[in-house]
Amino acid sequence: MNENAASFKAKSTIRSADREHRRKINFNMSRYNAVVPVGKLQFADVMVARERAKNVKWRAIETLDQQLLQFEMEFTKRGGKVIWAETGEQALEEIGKICKEKNCKTLVKSKSMVTEEIHLNRFLEKQGIESIETDLGEYIQQLDGEPPYHIVTPAMHKSKEDVAKLFADKLGTPPNLTPEQLTLVARHKLREKFMQAEVGVTGANFIIPDVGGVAITENEGNARLSSAFPKTHIVVVGIEKVIPTMVDLGLFWPLLSTFGTGQKVTVYNTIITGPKREKEQDGPEEMVVILLDNGRTNLLANPKTREALYCIRCGACLNACPVYKNIGGHSYETTYSGPIGSVITPHLKEMDEYKHLSNASSLCGNCTEVCPVRINLHELLLENRKEAVEFGMAPLGEKIAWKAWKTASLNRKMMNMGNGKMKNRVLNKIFKSWTSSRSNLNFSQKTFNEMWAERKKS
Ligand code: SF4
Repeated sequence: MNENAASFKAKSTIRSADREHRRKINFNMSRYNAVVPVGKLQFADVMVARERAKNVKWRAIETLDQQLLQFEMEFTKRGGKVIWAETGEQALEEIGKICKEKNCKTLVKSKSMVTEEIHLNRFLEKQGIESIETDLGEYIQQLDGEPPYHIVTPAMHKSKEDVAKLFADKLGTPPNLTPEQLTLVARHKLREKFMQAEVGVTGANFIIPDVGGVAITENEGNARLSSAFPKTHIVVVGIEKVIPTMVDLGLFWPLLSTFGTGQKVTVYNTIITGPKREKEQDGPEEMVVILLDNGRTNLLANPKTREALYCIRCGACLNACPVYKNIGGHSYETTYSGPIGSVITPHLKEMDEYKHLSNASSLCGNCTEVCPVRINLHELLLENRKEAVEFGMAPLGEKIAWKAWKTASLNRKMMNMGNGKMKNRVLNKIFKSWTSSRSNLNFSQKTFNEMWAERKKS
């Protein structure tokens, strides 16, 4: 077992026994579960909407090269700049260059998983730049020195009391503030930063080639402030976020909000097509979009795993996953957790280092059931397992076990040896590492031949 797998197993074991953690997660998820069905009522037929969305994403991903080139052409026409980054390091280098050029001391950031993926805050800190998370959940996590716990709800594992205590410890506020008071404290602190920042960084929920724009969805207005207040706006976005036309937003905005938070539509939906133009009062003087690959073309290369690029990062599969609900987001130690994280991380990073995530699933299929773009997540987890075996990455013990299993299964005499009790005793001892976190194997007391003979007799 490699280091990542061992650490994942250790953290998951501890977390799954933590009742307080489970109480908070169940509480927050129960609120989500209560509102999603209400949000779905806005669709005449939600399944048709999901199928349509899958088709749109299929078209976008199958023609990804053309879509991205069209986006670049349209966006640059209006004075924006596009940078293509093959790796996270390249993206960081480009951001570093821009910050240096702008003599940036303070940078405001809205919520963006892709900037987590490239560890932007760590990089900026090393450059002596203060980078402030402006989404409330991300701000809480940044204060606590923790990465986001969930791709949509970064501080989902914290109660309001936890947040009040954190603010008291870090900001010196009274320890019993209400959520409204805590929000006002954060708002006051953040407003100052918006005014100071030379550069604003956001992600993007969608890239829209036909108008050469990016669409950003948020509930707090902080992404609008991060993109409009500073003189320079940088967007970092994964290349898979393409939807072909602006008209498609009519489908994707409600789908994202319903499956992400149960809302009919998210509070602020913004389309940005470039920097401030002549005679315009608001907006940045410069706007740069960094199109990031960072392993996404590995998923694209395989016609089966390509489907994972349809993801709109709504987080529904995390909320539906029995494994995620028990072990929590941080046990994964990856940017993307839950079912979608387990599918894409081995391809974005190293299969050998992260193949264990594909086994962190009961294969119940609940993730596939809830995905708004109908990604066959549980089948993709199996595809990852298959790939890992085909690339010879299965551990020696597993290879020997399967070989023994195959030999025995093909040999009737071996299958008929001993009774169920004896098989249970011997095999549960041999497969001790398997049964340490699962119930024991339980063989039938009679062999197949015995049962067949009895049936024939009766
Ligand atoms: S895989 Fe589907 S359910 Fe999971 S985050 Fe992506 S779009 Fe949402």
